[in-house]
Amino acid sequence: MNMKKNLRNVLAHLAANALILTGRVKQATQKALDTECILSLYFHKPAKDEFEFTIRWFRKKGFKFISPHDLEKIINGEIPFPKGAVLLSVDDGWQTNLTNVVEVAISNEVPVTIFVSTTPAEEGAYWWSYVTQAKRQGLTSFSKQELKKIPEEERVNILQEIKQMIYPGRDAMTVEQVKMAARSPYITIGSHTQTHPILINCPEMQVYEELKGSRQKLESWTGKEVAYFAYPNGDYSRREIKVLKTLNYRLAFSSQPKYLTPALLSESFTIPRFGFLEGASHAENICRMTGVWQPMMQKLAHKKTAQPKKDKNWFNDLFFGEDRIQKLDM
Ligand SMILES: [Zn+2]
Repeated sequence: MNMKKNLRNVLAHLAANALILTGRVKQATQKALDTECILSLYFHKPAKDEFEFTIRWFRKKGFKFISPHDLEKIINGEIPFPKGAVLLSVDDGWQTNLTNVVEVAISNEVPVTIFVSTTPAEEGAYWWSYVTQAKRQGLTSFSKQELKKIPEEERVNILQEIKQMIYPGRDAMTVEQVKMAARSPYITIGSHTQTHPILINCPEMQVYEELKGSRQKLESWTGKEVAYFAYPNGDYSRREIKVLKTLNYRLAFSSQPKYLTPALLSESFTIPRFGFLEGASHAENICRMTGVWQPMMQKLAHKKTAQPKKDKNWFNDLFFGEDRIQKLDM
């Protein structure tokens, strides 16, 4: 797995440098700075230097950072749509976020939103951490990718069995740490459900409970209103949007890789975000942050699909494996 991941990162690094050398990144950067455009980004558990690099890079180019609160004002027409703005968010609420994200955001005075799943904060670990560890020890044959695709009831049953056998150790922030992070004016805490299920696999009642319960807990922990949400694994349907609206959430973030422009302002429940890929090269992440990476890769994949299957596999594995890599931690 690691060798494959390394090879992927090396090839991606070369592709990214080609995109930089041909001027595409410069072009996209200039366009974002000159037109009404927000680069909306999401991370999971970046290393400290990755997060610092991102902030430094955007600052040097002349971008300004906005919070989801600012975004709401833009949507409501209270402030004009900005040129060259960046909105940073982080999914799940990993324990390393404290030093690598929260501290960096505060010392750089940059607003960051952390979308927290409440059950891992209470219990210690995300469900896929149990699964990965169990699989490594030969205690289950299921992978987390497989469990993302089955009905919720089955997933919960399998997980229940695994939970009786192992505990992978804490990798999520504690409740105390979530409270601490929320005290900073630079940190916004948003909801990311309670247990981080794949919502589209869940019965409607559970969707309702997940969205309501996580909001209530986060509000009682932080003493602040929680009105923003990010879809686990980026998965949603019209039903999830409906439930979010019923519960008075005001913004929801997807993982669709698009520029946030005035044309998308009416879609407050499917706000796009470009994904930062932790562990990839700076060059690749610059391409990702400026919105150059995903459209280019999609185009290449599209071309490849016209060719024989034999050819297609290595390419999809390496580059579209990226989405799998990216979604490893969801
Ligand atoms: Zn997540």
